[in-house]
Amino acid sequence: MTHSSIKPIYLVSSCLVGLCTRYDGCIQTNSACMRHLSGSIWIPVCPEQLGGLATPRIAADIEGKSGQEVLSGKARVITRQGNDVTSQFIHGANQVLIIAKSQPVTSILLKASSPSCGVEGRQGVTAALLLENGFTLTEF
Ligand code: SF4
Repeated sequence: MTHSSIKPIYLVSSCLVGLCTRYDGCIQTNSACMRHLSGSIWIPVCPEQLGGLATPRIAADIEGKSGQEVLSGKARVITRQGNDVTSQFIHGANQVLIIAKSQPVTSILLKASSPSCGVEGRQGVTAALLLENGFTLTEF
C-alpha cells in the first residue's frame, strides 16, 4: 500500500498551530493556517527547538541578507545578546529536512518573518534549505 495522497500531508511551523515554541514562549495560533490544514495530515516542526534551542529563548537574527548566506557560511545568526547560534539554526534546518524527506509531503507551511521559517522578504535558514531541496513553501 502506498500513502499516495489519500489526504494531503503538510509539514507546518509548530507555532502556527498553537504550540508553545516561539522564542518568547507565547502561543499565537494562526487561524488562516488552521483553516488551510483542515482535513489534512499535518506534522508540526520547530527548527529552532530541533536545533537544540530552548523555549523561551533570546531572539536571534541573521546578520547577512538571507538564510542562504548562512547555509553557505557567508553569514551568521546572532542573538540579541550577541551569542552565535548559527550552528543550532543550521542543525535545526537539517532536522526539518530529514523529517520532510521521510514523508510524502504535499507542501510546507512556514511562519512569516522568522530567521528560521520566513519565506518571503528575508528568507530564513530552514526555508532556504527546504527550497534548495525542491519543496514547495507557503508562508503564513
Ligand atoms: Fe519555531 Fe519557526 Fe515558529 Fe520560530 S517561527 S517558533 S523556529 S516554528
